[in-house]
Amino acid sequence: MSSEASSSRSASGSPAPSGSGESSRSRSASPFNPSAPEPSTSNKTFEDLGISKELCQACKSLGFKKPTDIQIESIPPALEGKDIIGLAQTGSGKTAAFTLPILQSLWENPQPFFALVMAPTRELAYQISQQVTSLGSGIGVRAATIVGGMDMMSQSIALSKRPHVIVATPGRLMDHLENTKGFSLKNLKYLVMDEADRLLDMDFGPIIDKILKVIPKERNTYLFSATMTTKVAKLQRASLNKPVRVEVSSKYSTVETLLQHYLLLPLKSKDSHLIYLTNELSSSSMIIFTRTVNDSQRLSIILRRLGFPAIPLHGQMSQSMRLASLNKFKSGGRSILVATDVASRGLDIPLVDLVINYDMPTNSKDYVHRVGRTARAGRSGKSITLVTQYDVEILQRIESHIGKKMVSFDVDKEAVNVLNDTVNKANREAALEMRESGTGGAGGKRGRDNGQGHGKRGLDDDRDRDDDSYQAGIPQKKGKHQGKVNGNGRSNKFSNAGKKQRR
Ligand code: AMP
Repeated sequence: MSSEASSSRSASGSPAPSGSGESSRSRSASPFNPSAPEPSTSNKTFEDLGISKELCQACKSLGFKKPTDIQIESIPPALEGKDIIGLAQTGSGKTAAFTLPILQSLWENPQPFFALVMAPTRELAYQISQQVTSLGSGIGVRAATIVGGMDMMSQSIALSKRPHVIVATPGRLMDHLENTKGFSLKNLKYLVMDEADRLLDMDFGPIIDKILKVIPKERNTYLFSATMTTKVAKLQRASLNKPVRVEVSSKYSTVETLLQHYLLLPLKSKDSHLIYLTNELSSSSMIIFTRTVNDSQRLSIILRRLGFPAIPLHGQMSQSMRLASLNKFKSGGRSILVATDVASRGLDIPLVDLVINYDMPTNSKDYVHRVGRTARAGRSGKSITLVTQYDVEILQRIESHIGKKMVSFDVDKEAVNVLNDTVNKANREAALEMRESGTGGAGGKRGRDNGQGHGKRGLDDDRDRDDDSYQAGIPQKKGKHQGKVNGNGRSNKFSNAGKKQRR
């Protein structure tokens, strides 16, 4: 079962050197890409921070050459036994920042149910769990992932194996605390609340309060959040003891290696422009962001029908389907992910060359998170945001937020026009396929309108969300024409389209 990560050895061994390092203080680092750690300007090593030999080795084998800013700031006080409030986002290296001190302490004093990490989404929980297992592989850490949407029974079995670290979404954890015989957290030593702002935005507050009541008061607590909201401050007061506050960036920004483009187009030819871009940039791995579930599903069908290896990712897919999509994409089996914002936060998707915003994100922070999927770790990357006549104001708002002007992306208009008929046909087929499989069928105009927020809202067109209320999953019935259409291949269809333009 993928929700349990375990290794054969149990955690035990000689005490590792305990670090003192510097006592911490707030600090503002340079702007960073929220999806990949910006290299620290400091020359400190993990050893300098007080990290044990075994864990330094684990960092090395994961390719962590030196600690990131958030790690430099938070590891020394954490190793001194202090509570930490960390203001940092996904991409800063915060997971290792809280995991390494926990693992070091576990190595010194091994026991089951040692640490609990609470995360707002299932994907984030899986990612944290993976990192705990990778960093702890040398010391035999057992981790269990307890999230909604997965089988309760197999999770109970994972818990009966007495893992050292539990990574959980709050709702499902509470379920187990109330219903799984023999499971308790009364000996817990470490509590981490990751992405606390999102945990609280998603109304997990009351469940977290309940969980806080059934774990020991005597413990270390780390609270990480991208923003310091009133709710987070209240949670901090309720759960942390004289915390050290560490902060690496309070400003949303984008990295210099990211080329940010916009493409001004009429709403009615959005799909043709998208297909033109995918065809032009087909050698890139890319994420296409849509605002609605319907468009994520519809566009991935259109792309597949036109011979592109596309796969959807959205909140109406079951958890296992979402993980399967992500894994296929990560392993390079599919090079185009068509995702809603569910995929833009908290996910660690490596090696994306290009981000296309099919729909304008209405929120500037979402824009930064979306484009943060490319230009990672010093590599270059490109983003193209489709801007219709209705979106110009949002574009200006985003530009002022990031403090940069985006550059217009030129297209060969004739080549785009040539695609219109083919794309319209694929759109009609996609609508039919979705209707047949019961996944909406609001393709065509209605789907696009809703994506823009102008049309009537149907259930499937609702803006995507990422919580347990969307567990239905979408049947993956294959369209009967799919083989035939794909069989034509995109090289035939597009060999003459849009080869003139290149930047
Ligand atoms: P996080 O902010 O924890 O989601 O981390 C984002 C990515 O940075 C993950 O892929 C980590 O594996 C990676 N990472 C964490 N720490 C380091 C480091 N010191 N050097 C290089 N990569 C890192």
